Amino acid sequence: MGKCALVTGASRSIGAAIALKLAQKGYNIAVGCHSHASVENGGEAIAAQCRELGVEAACFVADVADFSQCERMVGEVITHFGSIEVLVNNAGITKDALLVQMSEEQYDSVISADLKSVFNMMRHAGKRMMKAKHGAIVNITSVAGLYGNRGQTNYSAAKAGIVGMTKTAAKELGARGITVNAVAPGFIETPMTAAMPEKARDAALGSIALRRPGTCEDVANAVAFLVSEEAAYITGQVLVVDGCMTM
Ligand code: NAP
Repeated sequence: MGKCALVTGASRSIGAAIALKLAQKGYNIAVGCHSHASVENGGEAIAAQCRELGVEAACFVADVADFSQCERMVGEVITHFGSIEVLVNNAGITKDALLVQMSEEQYDSVISADLKSVFNMMRHAGKRMMKAKHGAIVNITSVAGLYGNRGQTNYSAAKAGIVGMTKTAAKELGARGITVNAVAPGFIETPMTAAMPEKARDAALGSIALRRPGTCEDVANAVAFLVSEEAAYITGQVLVVDGCMTM
């Protein structure tokens, strides 16, 4: 039936670029969508673009913060495509505030959507990959998880947690031939960064050595490399894609 890649948060931006890049590489694509509205507002169009590249593609709906919805979605993807060779945990949100002004809801919701989600998806898809004795997982973290970022206590904690989770999963799943890596983007032009205050955007952009913001394709290229045969001996690593914004 061909190889399948499941990409969460693939209805737009970085997730959509990853889905299209992996479709170009010949993967059938499971377009992970947050809701039926996300399917209509982007997901189905991305699936159609993947199909135009000659592969199969379909949308699958789950709130990745929800353990049982992730289990259901993984089961649905396997029923549809037969297997999951590649899992990309891309879905994420921000709810920025300074530490002493951050509400419990802002903290908890970002930890659930950005960190628990990665556990949920690796827990369910990883079990299936272990049985199949192969697979590649890429988790999208952030430079905020490596260096911290003002106003992002919740997000930095979630993204740093992803790094620890990635390294642990790499150690646990390696014996079954499964690689687990993370990609840490810097400043990428998407609705997430468009929502930043102008001053913070200017400061971030001014600190990039390559003198341009990253594109969704820059991140997708890194993911495509990490799931390729050329990266078969790379696992437990964090690949920073930030134009040397941090070092
Ligand atoms: P985006 O444009 O806001 O897209 C986020 C995607 O995640 C959307 O498709 C969204 O769907 C989905 N999503 C959010 N919560 C979800 C949930 N609970 N369940 C399922 N899907 C959910 O963000 P982006 O900029 O492309 O970011 C993608 C990833 O890269 C995130 O993990 C982000 O933290 C990371 N990242 C981004 C940057 C950057 O500069 N943009 C930098 C570093 C890391 P709905 O809209 O339908 O909710």
